[in-house]
Amino acid sequence: MSMAGRIARMTGTLIPAALARPFGAPAAVFFHGVETALTNPAIQSNQHTLDAFENIARLLKRDFDVLPLAALTDVRKQPGKHSRALFLMSDDGYANTLTVAADVLGSFALPWTLFVSTHHIDSGMLNPMTVARAFFLLAPEGRYDIPHLGALTLNDEREMLAGRVLPRLKNLDAARANQAVAAMQSVLDSAGISLAQRFPSEHFLSWDQIRQLDNRGVTIGAHADWHWPMHESQTADYLREQALRPKRRIEEEVGPCRAFAYPFGQRGDICRAAWEAVRDAGYAHAFTTIAGTLDAGSNDWLLPRYGLAPQEPNLAAMLPVMRANNARLRQWQSHIGT
Ligand SMILES: [Zn+2]
Repeated sequence: MSMAGRIARMTGTLIPAALARPFGAPAAVFFHGVETALTNPAIQSNQHTLDAFENIARLLKRDFDVLPLAALTDVRKQPGKHSRALFLMSDDGYANTLTVAADVLGSFALPWTLFVSTHHIDSGMLNPMTVARAFFLLAPEGRYDIPHLGALTLNDEREMLAGRVLPRLKNLDAARANQAVAAMQSVLDSAGISLAQRFPSEHFLSWDQIRQLDNRGVTIGAHADWHWPMHESQTADYLREQALRPKRRIEEEVGPCRAFAYPFGQRGDICRAAWEAVRDAGYAHAFTTIAGTLDAGSNDWLLPRYGLAPQEPNLAAMLPVMRANNARLRQWQSHIGT
């Protein structure tokens, strides 16, 4: 998280919920997966612990009107009438959203939307960023030539190296990134490190499991095909495919798919051609991971969303903080072409 984000979070926790409520505005929040216990939080950084997630669900029930995504258009037409409205979402499509999260959310009767990256559902391949983090943190000490990233020496300063190199990896176009991640995967394979065995939390849902969630009332949306940024380094063809293919696969396997969430979803992860491809593919809405409230901006394909922290002791107090970011969100929306 950025320094501004950390300060915003710290400030947010100082404002009591009751005081914050008059500043309320409709918002969208998201998590990834939920696990009963985490063995390596640095690798499993997308997972909430079950205890923390139950606390979040309790607060959502107490402090907000959590609505199904179908209500979004009405809420955005009259945001002032829906100051407690909240849309809850989960990204990527981890198997534990069915085996753990769905039961918690079901017990509180909270509706939610699941955004899946369809290539990972089809193939079972792990999230490329999970593979990359695991390479830096778990591969044996040594010097490795990784395509497009050069020679990388893993020693006791490997965390610092990861901090420097992962942003470079994320900026690569998909073809080059794929080659780099495949090389990292083969280093782990040669060392006998099976991420799938060691970290079941990182397994993706199957289509059958996604249908079970759909039957339980979960809205299914798209999170691109391959879990990689849709930024300016990507070709127009790649961006079109990332918008079109998940919609087609979800509609073949589950049913209508009208919403999209961008992988990573920050300013540098989405370009103009990306949101235009999402719009042209026929999605009604698309979500970033830029904080803000849903009364901000007018672009239906660049909506703000707030990533739930591992613990959220006072989520209602975060709303004024999210709202304070709306001006920056609008500035960025107009910068990339709206
Ligand atoms: Zn994601």
